[in-house]
Amino acid sequence: MSRFLHARFDHLRPYTPGEQPRDRVYSKLNTNEFPYPPAPTVLDALTRQSLEDLRLYSDPEGKDLKERLAESYRVTPEQVFLSNGSDDILNFAFMAFAPDGAVFPNITYSFYPVFADLHGVSYETIPLKTDFSIDPQDYAHTGRMIVIANPNAPTGLALTRLQVRSVLEQNPKSLVLIDEAYVDFGAESAVPLLAEFDNLLVVMTYSKSRAMAGARLGFALGSAAVIADLEKLKYATNPYNVNRLTLALGVAALDGEDYYRQHCARIAQTRSSTAQRLQDLGFCVLPSQANFLFAKRDGFPGARLYETLKARGVLIRHFDTPLIADYVRITIGKEEAMEAFLRETEAILREECLL
Ligand SMILES: *Cc1c(COP(=O)(O)O)cnc(C)c1O
Repeated sequence: MSRFLHARFDHLRPYTPGEQPRDRVYSKLNTNEFPYPPAPTVLDALTRQSLEDLRLYSDPEGKDLKERLAESYRVTPEQVFLSNGSDDILNFAFMAFAPDGAVFPNITYSFYPVFADLHGVSYETIPLKTDFSIDPQDYAHTGRMIVIANPNAPTGLALTRLQVRSVLEQNPKSLVLIDEAYVDFGAESAVPLLAEFDNLLVVMTYSKSRAMAGARLGFALGSAAVIADLEKLKYATNPYNVNRLTLALGVAALDGEDYYRQHCARIAQTRSSTAQRLQDLGFCVLPSQANFLFAKRDGFPGARLYETLKARGVLIRHFDTPLIADYVRITIGKEEAMEAFLRETEAILREECLL
């Protein structure tokens, strides 16, 4: 720390992204990336001209992409906000919509408390039930911004649309942010509720189900007034925060919807076969609706499984948080990658005399 840093950041603990080690080739099942390339429409979207046009600023309104997203999600373009990844939108939301604080589950995306601390937002965490599910009743009349990842991370469990509706109904005076980073892998989206609730903000990303984590593109859907608030903060921060190439790729991805639907379905299939095989190996596996599994094996702590798999070239994610320290989170990769993961896991369990 330099002597120049503002004292209010002295104790800020930043988010820890999943590791990207370079010491050898790993099978990367640790950051929930899409295992297949983006749609063919995306691969062919950039031309020499689009690169020459990099000399020009990007469209700060992102008009073309907003219109296409609006069409796709049946909202108006004024209800669409674009940003540099959905983390960027979460940042703005904590900056803007939590004057009285925020609430979110005790086990969820670990970036939420970081944004809260960054913006001096007080927050309360609400314990998950013992089966790791969220009870919507725990979010009745909170009087604060509510942030729920649906499906939740790292559990993979999802609320139904009816459950999200009850949270919205019980909190008409608070903004309810539903982070749908993983929704395309099988959960019910809250988007249809936008027609009825002006306190709903749905945050989505191209990073997971559209295979574009490296492009940094997120979007949010909400009431025109809430979106205008987000635009205000974006124009006060960095109006050109989505670059020209990414805007073009974002549109091209919407031309490849069939490809994405098919590949998300394929991932959901690999998820269920992997879950079954893990259960056969004695794992307890939560019923995930995301592109990852959250699992534990009695007698084999999560940290040890993570370490031993890493030594064998397979990266998964382990969280130090006491409540979930027994668990590991495994991203669903291609079928071959899951075969290799299961083979190594089985070999480890045999070596430890656990099978
Ligand atoms: C990955 C993830 C994000 C962030 O996505 P970006 O768009 O890449 O910033 C947001 N929320 C959750 C729950 C995620 O898992």
